[in-house]
Amino acid sequence: MKFFESIQRYLKAFLHLLYPQICFGCGTDQVEKAMPLCQQCIQDLPCTDFFGINENPIEKIFWGRAEIQNAGALLFFTKDSLVQTLISQLKYNHNKKVGILFGRLMGEAIAAEEKYNHFDFIIPIPISASKILTRGFNQSEVIAMGMQQVWHRPLLKDVLIKRSWSNSQTKKNRKARLQQVPDLFFLQKPSDIEGKHILLVDDVLTTGATLEAAVASLMTGSPASVSIAVAAYTL
Ligand SMILES: [Zn+2]
Repeated sequence: MKFFESIQRYLKAFLHLLYPQICFGCGTDQVEKAMPLCQQCIQDLPCTDFFGINENPIEKIFWGRAEIQNAGALLFFTKDSLVQTLISQLKYNHNKKVGILFGRLMGEAIAAEEKYNHFDFIIPIPISASKILTRGFNQSEVIAMGMQQVWHRPLLKDVLIKRSWSNSQTKKNRKARLQQVPDLFFLQKPSDIEGKHILLVDDVLTTGATLEAAVASLMTGSPASVSIAVAAYTL
């Protein structure tokens, strides 16, 4: 059954390539322009509601590891799910519509919470210059741009920089990746974030190691606070 469902999903993704105005979730052609899903499938997305919950599972991941103020995730990420299809569309098929939709939904969730009112900047987790060349864009930046459409905060790019030598990390085993994490990023213009409240945005949260390293780098610039927002959280 699971196999059949996977085939069905791949078929829908393939049809979507041929006919872009088809919903990735259910295949209907009742899709608004610039949307990857129909209204019903957007409503049915597995939202976590974590942004409104204090001490939620995302915040707990970083307890004792990173000095953060708030954290949340928009969606639950499970294997062979629509969310997985959408994330791979965003990361590997250059489908920016997915990133904009995730960003808008996350922006709406955050705008509804008073505890996010005082933020100064959104910083998307950067990818290395070599990855920008192969992928063409930074998926976290696209999500941040979607957020900006509904939650009006400036985007701060070129402050946090991803070191290029770590770009082959996916080929390394988990232990090797964790060992090199502290040097994943560096802060280029520390004065830009001094005394500011920052929201760090990423696409998928798994171990939290990447975000932990990014927060550590940001902290060297003495911001007032750093919080985390991710589009999807791996269960
Ligand atoms: Zn649909």
